Amino acid sequence: MQYNVVNFGRTIVLRQVFGWQHPITLIQGEEAMNKAKQIINAYAVLEAGGQFEPFSYETGELGPNEVEIDVLYCGICHSDLSMIENEWGLSQYPLVAGHEVIGKVSAKGSEVQNLEQGTTVGLGWHSGYCGHCNSCKTGDQNLCAEAQPTIVAHHGGFADKVRADASSVIVIPEGIDLKSAGPLLCGGVTVFNPLVQFDVKSTDNVAVIGIGGLGHMALQFLNAWGCKVTAFTSSESKRSEALNMGAHNTLNSRDQGEIESATGSFDFIISTVNVKLDWNLYLSTLKPKGRLHFVGATLEPLDIEVFSLIMGQKSISGSPVGSPITIEMMLEFARLHKVKPQIELYPMSKINEAFDHLKSGKAKYRIVLSNE
Ligand SMILES: [Zn+2]
Ligand SMILES: [Zn+2]
Repeated sequence: MQYNVVNFGRTIVLRQVFGWQHPITLIQGEEAMNKAKQIINAYAVLEAGGQFEPFSYETGELGPNEVEIDVLYCGICHSDLSMIENEWGLSQYPLVAGHEVIGKVSAKGSEVQNLEQGTTVGLGWHSGYCGHCNSCKTGDQNLCAEAQPTIVAHHGGFADKVRADASSVIVIPEGIDLKSAGPLLCGGVTVFNPLVQFDVKSTDNVAVIGIGGLGHMALQFLNAWGCKVTAFTSSESKRSEALNMGAHNTLNSRDQGEIESATGSFDFIISTVNVKLDWNLYLSTLKPKGRLHFVGATLEPLDIEVFSLIMGQKSISGSPVGSPITIEMMLEFARLHKVKPQIELYPMSKINEAFDHLKSGKAKYRIVLSNE
């Protein structure tokens, strides 16, 4: 997920960090061999901005509500990079990132009812929820203040195994391509969830800002949702790709004239970028009652003319990933409408090369690590 730190208060984040106890111990040498059944072999970064190194850690007994997953594939999300570089000040090292896991249940706790050994499952940004707060009880677990992020004070999916609370583990429907499915678990649901939350209609005229890891999935989902879809992109080379992925037309996000040509056009705009743009210009492209929605973590404060919001009764909003039921809904929708992340596959052992490729900005459009 791509957090907007401004929208996500530090108090809540710190509660997340300290509210969950997962004892993690580094085991080396012969001792590791003797306790092979309790060892997870992963790749960890030992300091901010460091390289990944092989790293094994001991797990305790599986909790009654936990499952252990054999990782088949794990996607790389931009927030893995943010965490590795400690951009949000939340990281704890050694840090095992990876929160777009596709795998099979290898063990389950005594209380787990809904999953069996061998079930093909996915795990996204969250690996557990408090289960009793208002958000959890009303089906908005992704808004739970005590939700456990998979890679904050918890070891993630760049590993042979990962553990999670069963409530956060999603069954992957038959017919989904497993190699490319990982990015749906975080990036995919991040762009799908707003369609559900804000009741985007098939007759709506919508736009996507930024055609990258998130944006290329947003175009596919919105096209399949039935909308008229416009892609804002600064890259000439991505124009034809955007049209192939579901955009009906494109506008150059660096050309003020092109943007102004769309004044008053859109019911809904979803921004996937993490840079500052002329947001007032984009607001002017909304119809009255239109919405500019953020899922990309732009760290610079928004500079918004309130008058434009008032006169057009327009809205600005943001949202993080999605609840377990929304992830299930998204996966079923993706299966039915053949929404598929475009990926580049690397062996898990080439994790450092994969991250170099991500940092180059040339990944088309998501990278997935494979244990096969
Ligand atoms: Zn993510
Ligand atoms: Zn909760």
